Amino acid sequence: MSRYTGPVCRLCRREGQKLYLKGDKCFTKCTFEKRSSPPGMHRRMRRPSEYGLQLREKQKAKRFYGVSEKQFRGYFKQAIRARGVTGETLMQLLERRLDNVVYRAGFARTRAEARQIVNHGHVSVDGRKVDIPSFLVEPGQEIAIRPRSLRMERFMGLAEYLEGHTAPAWMALDPQNFKATVLRLPERDEVDAPVDERFIVELYSK
Ligand code: SF4
Repeated sequence: MSRYTGPVCRLCRREGQKLYLKGDKCFTKCTFEKRSSPPGMHRRMRRPSEYGLQLREKQKAKRFYGVSEKQFRGYFKQAIRARGVTGETLMQLLERRLDNVVYRAGFARTRAEARQIVNHGHVSVDGRKVDIPSFLVEPGQEIAIRPRSLRMERFMGLAEYLEGHTAPAWMALDPQNFKATVLRLPERDEVDAPVDERFIVELYSK
């Protein structure tokens, strides 16, 4: 299944919780509390089965990071092969995607915008253009908005936006130069996805 490109507020309603897919607007213009029933469902919902719960957590993670089923399964296989706790490694892999790192650094207002910025070639890793949103960033690498891109209108308000932005502790943000260095891999409690990855591990381990 390909990536969803429809209205994102539907995804929050489908998951029954806010997934913060529209950046700052989620804090000012969100109507989730007023209209939180799943789209297309007007009947009272049944209690979900164990499988239903596992499936929902997987869908939530996919929607939060904007990845397809195929990509998600690939991350899971990679997490199984790695040392450590599978669920935590899975979340770490998702968090290390270049589009997510660009978003967490504050260079984009949403993960969807970050993906577009990367796709359009505005981002460099260690000084070289990388236009693959799924590129996995390693500790020590420096992510930057390319200098020629900074002249574009879409980046005009970025300096001001970064003044009020706090990057996570696993990266060092240099807002004056529109750069961020990944210091280390994120710990689980530094990943802000509202997901219980243990359900996902159970789902795929069947
Ligand atoms: Fe829409 Fe954001 Fe609210 Fe979700 S949290 S319903 S994406 S405004």
